[in-house]
Amino acid sequence: MVKGKISKKEKTKNKGEKKLRRPLLCDFHIHTTFSDGEMKLREVIDLYGVNGFDVIAITDHVFDTQCPLSLNMINKGAYVDNFDRYFWAIKKASTYARKKYDLLIIPGIEVTNNNVGFHILGLDIKKTIDANLSAKEVIEEIHHQEGLAIACHPYYKISELQDRQKIEETTIYLWENRERYLDLIDAWEIANRDDLFSVVGLSKLPFLANSDFHEKKHIYSWKTQIYTSKDPSSVKNAIKEQKISLALFRDETEALSSPHLAGKDYFNLAFPQLVAT
Ligand SMILES: [Zn+2]
Ligand SMILES: [Zn+2]
Repeated sequence: MVKGKISKKEKTKNKGEKKLRRPLLCDFHIHTTFSDGEMKLREVIDLYGVNGFDVIAITDHVFDTQCPLSLNMINKGAYVDNFDRYFWAIKKASTYARKKYDLLIIPGIEVTNNNVGFHILGLDIKKTIDANLSAKEVIEEIHHQEGLAIACHPYYKISELQDRQKIEETTIYLWENRERYLDLIDAWEIANRDDLFSVVGLSKLPFLANSDFHEKKHIYSWKTQIYTSKDPSSVKNAIKEQKISLALFRDETEALSSPHLAGKDYFNLAFPQLVAT
């Protein structure tokens, strides 16, 4: 080495404590045409792969069979009806995703109980779970399969304005009974798509941010970044240890479509009680 020149090794060393490790860009809440998503599994993988994601979980719905809302979804066929085929398809797609995009796919489901009012993601699970079970039983079954249990949109969520009607999901059960679930839930969604559940942050609970992806535009929403290596057990441990940060993933090539106009329209419809008459 030429005297006076700083070697590459020393240069790195001189950067001291500054860590330049890139976090993994992740989304742990995604629906496909296996339930009520608009895009096929392979299309979802291509979309996330092209957008540079590192880890995604496929979490299609399994519904309870006790309330009209769930039965309506079942009647529409918007649920996973064949879990052998579902998990097999995810496994096959995982190989494709890793090879083509270095994208890690985690198999999961969203246990959707609209009767009691809880939606729980089971991440990295191998078989389905009956959504008619109690929340405690669902979580125990997820843990029995060595998966993680995530509380989805655990507060009031205005999911969409459809036909100018406010659609409100009532998945507040876990939050209202949180004392009982603090030691059971591995992480709570602090952000779901564009909704922020600041109560989760105020309570210092372990959190995640997900898109609750159902259609292409939902990729542009809150996401989780994780500081770990790209394999399922490291990712699960990092979530438990909260080695994470939040990111609002946006399309840098396009401005948001009239955010202020959309905001005003949305606000007036979503919160009529707050609009001066
Ligand atoms: Zn949900
Ligand atoms: Zn969902």
